Amino acid sequence: MSILRILTYGDDRLQTPAKAVEKITPEIRKLIADMAETMHAAKGVGLAATQVGVMARLCVVNPEAREGGGEETSKPAGHRVFINPQIIWTSDEDVPMSEGCLSLPGIEAEVFRPSAIRVRYRDERWQVREEEMSGLLARILQHEIDHLDGVLFVDRVGFVRRHVLAGQLRKLRKERESIFVPAALAGDKG
Ligand SMILES: [Zn+2]
Repeated sequence: MSILRILTYGDDRLQTPAKAVEKITPEIRKLIADMAETMHAAKGVGLAATQVGVMARLCVVNPEAREGGGEETSKPAGHRVFINPQIIWTSDEDVPMSEGCLSLPGIEAEVFRPSAIRVRYRDERWQVREEEMSGLLARILQHEIDHLDGVLFVDRVGFVRRHVLAGQLRKLRKERESIFVPAALAGDKG
């Protein structure tokens, strides 16, 4: 397994919808294992394939990472895999929750989303499954499915909050360019 580089804000791939996974291949298995390792190393609660630059509709989640509160535990890190996840029902009530993202380091904002959802997906054995979920798992999965549609949580915050975040977002975009894009090419980036 290996740890993958997580794309940060400003990379176009984060705003590009992913394509459905057609079958489980050795490459997909390796991607899932690498994504799980990358998520655990970054202490994230979820990671979508688009965040590591693979435009495939799958994500890994680990709601327990947040309950761990950053403490080192001896218990092995777990994760769940959702392939081609699709929200087929949402509860009527939208609730606020503070969200962050491994692709937007240092940024947190309150986002309103349905408190419960029903999701259809395939598991690692390619079985179709349906599951109703609420609380943190429902929240994480909605955030990750957004990633697979090329949507970031900052796209869902209100106008005023978005205005407050604008400076931080500009800074993230600049940092990314200064690290990964040679100065001579920087002008080509939109
Ligand atoms: Zn995210």
